[in-house]
Amino acid sequence: MSTGRFRRVVLASDNAGKLREMQALLGGVDLLPQGELGIEGAEETAVTFVENALLKARHAARESGLAAIADDSGLVVRALGGAPGVWSARYAGEPKSDAANNAKLIAALRGASDRSAHFHCTLVLLHSAEDPDPVIVSRAWHGVVVDQPRGSNGFGYDPHFLLESRGCTAAELDAATKNALSHRGQACRALAELLAERGEP
Ligand code: IMP
Repeated sequence: MSTGRFRRVVLASDNAGKLREMQALLGGVDLLPQGELGIEGAEETAVTFVENALLKARHAARESGLAAIADDSGLVVRALGGAPGVWSARYAGEPKSDAANNAKLIAALRGASDRSAHFHCTLVLLHSAEDPDPVIVSRAWHGVVVDQPRGSNGFGYDPHFLLESRGCTAAELDAATKNALSHRGQACRALAELLAERGEP
């Protein structure tokens, strides 16, 4: 069940970069970061991306009384049984540190012959906190983990994420190219298409 057309949507994130990227791709909605409404982020207690995205969106929708969009993303490494997965941001513990996370990842993969990995992004749109029919999209971006970091763009695991077809890491891509290829860019475009098909907003 869709609760019909809407325009203002709370974004269950206070990341300015995400807001900018998603607003550019979701032209039909006015995205409102939850912090502007005094809403604190929900605790990400689930073990899958989709469950975390749902609980973040539900919390923002309940607190605001508006429709809400949330995303959850991370790196999934096959040889590590999917780790760091939903724990990507804090893989090496608190305080969160990209350098410590990357060091832990490289150490965990020492001696592994399978270096394949993908970034995953799930986006969820809830029309209301009780919406039984959320719009959900998930997309992946495949590569391999390399020991030697390369590039200084991007963030997180980008310097160690090699795109074999391009012969460069994600950190060697400019922002527009990364956006065109990445898990998050793909998911945002897919959500925009799905909403257009449904005649929303
Ligand atoms: P979040 O969904 O923004 O909280 O991202 C979770 C974590 O996954 C980030 O802190 C990064 O460690 C990792 N991650 C997600 N997307 C990317 C990416 O595009 N490049 C590098 N790391 C990423």
